[in-house]
Amino acid sequence: NFAERSEEQVSGAKVIAQALKTQDVEYIFGIVGIPVTEIAIAAQQLGIKYIGMRNEQAACYAASAIGYLTGRPGVCLVVSGPGLIHALGGMANANMNCWPLLVIGGSSERNQETMGAFQEFPQVEACRLYTKFSARPSSIEAIPFVIEKAVRSSIYGRPGACYVDIPADFVNLQVNVNSIKYMERCMSPPISMAETSAVCTAASVIRNAKQPLLIIGKGAAYAHAEESIKKLVEQYKLPFLPTPMGKGVVPDNHPCCVGAARSRALQFADVIVLFGARLNWILHFGLPPRYQPDVKFIQVDICAEELGNNVKPAVTLLGNINAVTKQLLEELDKTPWQYPPESKWWKTLREKMKSNEAASKELASKKSLPMNYYTVFYHVQEQLPRDCFVVSEGANTMDIGRTVLQNYRPRHRLDAGTFGTMGVGLGFAIAAAMVAKDRSPGQRVICVEGDSAFGFSGMEVETICRYNLPIILLIVNNNGIYQGFDTDTWKEMLKFRGATAVVPPMCLLPNSHYEQVMTAFGGKGYFVQTPEELQKSLRQSLADTTKPSLINIMIEPQATRKAQDFHWLTRSNM
Ligand code: ADP
Ligand code: MG
Repeated sequence: NFAERSEEQVSGAKVIAQALKTQDVEYIFGIVGIPVTEIAIAAQQLGIKYIGMRNEQAACYAASAIGYLTGRPGVCLVVSGPGLIHALGGMANANMNCWPLLVIGGSSERNQETMGAFQEFPQVEACRLYTKFSARPSSIEAIPFVIEKAVRSSIYGRPGACYVDIPADFVNLQVNVNSIKYMERCMSPPISMAETSAVCTAASVIRNAKQPLLIIGKGAAYAHAEESIKKLVEQYKLPFLPTPMGKGVVPDNHPCCVGAARSRALQFADVIVLFGARLNWILHFGLPPRYQPDVKFIQVDICAEELGNNVKPAVTLLGNINAVTKQLLEELDKTPWQYPPESKWWKTLREKMKSNEAASKELASKKSLPMNYYTVFYHVQEQLPRDCFVVSEGANTMDIGRTVLQNYRPRHRLDAGTFGTMGVGLGFAIAAAMVAKDRSPGQRVICVEGDSAFGFSGMEVETICRYNLPIILLIVNNNGIYQGFDTDTWKEMLKFRGATAVVPPMCLLPNSHYEQVMTAFGGKGYFVQTPEELQKSLRQSLADTTKPSLINIMIEPQATRKAQDFHWLTRSNM
């Protein structure tokens, strides 16, 4: 009856959980402790999946990957002070990648503020640098409004990270249920389209291109523009180049993909259409010597401030990539046209692809032991299921792996990204495995890690085993950062220099048995030194859908990439 209901009380923790539920939050990654434990419990009671991690940084990486994969933010729940500080890495990474993320941080009690409270820290201010929106609700009644605004800010416009601060005293405070109004689920972002005149200009620039190139970035993947972009590629026979996480928007094995002639394509294109890719270091700033000085850029982006960064674009198309691509298709359709498949440009690109692929294959076929990178990746590629998620990090491991490991589906590659962050791998893999489990059971997650990269979040193997996620971790182990020593050289060094030996900064302990980290928690571990052992252990890992596994792959400690035309990060000849 009414009199009873009006006296019913609800805790702050429950209000937070209900507000998240109302905003369709599906996953929370975090580590509980004072003062957020009750929030995690309340969320679980409402059916939100709570995944307890071992470090807030990995939890935050996981939550941010949920945002990229699903288009709605994952939540990272952390305790005050150090907990929140550990999460800053994940917030920065999400914001740099333009991925939605919501971090909820417990903070010290309001009536102890400035007194040196337990784990007191100016959290709202600290997060401002890493987020689009950072705020503390002024009362429990305000929580649903602030959470709705944070969720909305994370997905509207250019996506990014948001932070909501929850003082400890809110969590267990009881308020009358009737005093709380929950905001409705915020709608998906409105779809914006480019100016019609700009679309006409862009279509004519594309039609008049002699050496056109489409660059497909992770913005296109995030925008779910795969169908329209594939149509554009196929209808007009245009060469395309995916950025690392743009891989799979159009499959890597598509005949129009010129990934294997990347440098050549960038260097000689006269018209480049950028679909959700910034002209930052990943694309060499759009400047010579990596590009023609007079290359015409057509920039498609949702963020107006991005347009014109580093180069003066020929045409800017401000809007949602999928919608804008459809506009372009409609405009191009008006006049029958196709880029000639027998053009000199296509011939140059094909020749370069052939010679690059041959050089990689030759390295891959080397029988010498320990294996080199190419041998490892060719054997992995042979067995990779087409629909799997590929997560990857590490210097050479990620860079070489990307050229050999193919993606056939959009949003199925997760790596160090715009910020070049090492330590993201296990968190990303856990997020991808959760998404696979809930949306397409049976789909596998393959996490390809350098031995150094693995170390940043290695204890998350326990998380993987605790939730029984059948992730396959491959550690491409060269005993170091970039390069390491073999066991003999290592021993020599110790013998020669004795107990006071100074260990070179790039070296990690040779012959480390990382697979035992996995067996310690009940997963399968393999130590492999030959192509045959690699093939066998991978086959067994793929066949076992019930258990995670870790394959520790020993490679030549001094192995490197094949010769490159340009030094990494070259800006110009200035
Ligand atoms: P990459 O690393 O693949 O080059 P970036 O992260 O540099 O990609 O660029 C992605 C771009 O995509 C960002 O500039 C971002 O503003 C843009 N973007 C994100 N979502 C959308 C969308 N729905 N429509 C248009 N552009 C988008
Ligand atoms: Mg290494």
